[in-house]
Amino acid sequence: MAMLEVKGLEVYYGVIQAIKGISFEVNQGEIIALIGANGAGKTTTLHTITGLIAAKSGSIVYEGTDVTRIPGYKLVGMGIAHVPEGRRVFSSLTVLQNLKMGAYTRKDKNELDETLKMIYRRFPRLEERKNQPAGTLSGGEQQMLAMGRALMSHPRLIVMDEPSMGLSPIYVNEIFDIIQKINGDGTTVLLVEQNAKKALSIANRAYVLETGNIVLSGDAGDLLNNDQVKKAYLSE
Ligand code: ATP
Repeated sequence: MAMLEVKGLEVYYGVIQAIKGISFEVNQGEIIALIGANGAGKTTTLHTITGLIAAKSGSIVYEGTDVTRIPGYKLVGMGIAHVPEGRRVFSSLTVLQNLKMGAYTRKDKNELDETLKMIYRRFPRLEERKNQPAGTLSGGEQQMLAMGRALMSHPRLIVMDEPSMGLSPIYVNEIFDIIQKINGDGTTVLLVEQNAKKALSIANRAYVLETGNIVLSGDAGDLLNNDQVKKAYLSE
């Protein structure tokens, strides 16, 4: 059984249909990339999975439970964390306060300290800057903070929306490196990216979205060599 199974998902904004009946699955331990052009429906798909937008029809089953109608704040407690597009850190709060915001579902202080230590090991820069307001961090550091905040809930599935957006190439490499490490620690990753080349280079499998439909899917390595993908998404 897949960890996450999306079936026949349809999502509307008013009368406009953004997602037109897509189906895909994420298996435990995988990195899955969802790629596609601007407006293809990638963010809408993630927001529906994380309970921020309601599906019109179709189903989302997570670890065997139908979560299609479960609100986002409850999904966090069930092990799904979201790293939103544009980071959305709380600028006037410190790095540490931001991290603690990600832990609102957890009660055990010792366990939480362990998670915080793990996050500081993964992101030494966050520890160095723990008392600094998040708004003073660079874009790449804010991305690290958004990821660290999501990890504070100790998720089994982490969904990330455009982690490389607006970052310089050095940060992009670092962020993708960290995503692989997070996955290596045992967290399953669903990744939305415009940087298809990078996403495909770390993913196991990928789905290509075009105007609300999945038009291609397969092993990430195969898609990297697929002529249609090369032409539409890998030109530099
Ligand atoms: P991007 O990479 O630009 O974020 P995307 O693939 O994530 O694109 P979505 O943001 O999911 O695409 O948008 C899918 C479609 O839904 C687009 O046509 C978009 O204009 C539309 N859409 C998104 N949000 C809304 C909204 N709040 N109200 C109306 N239409 C919306």
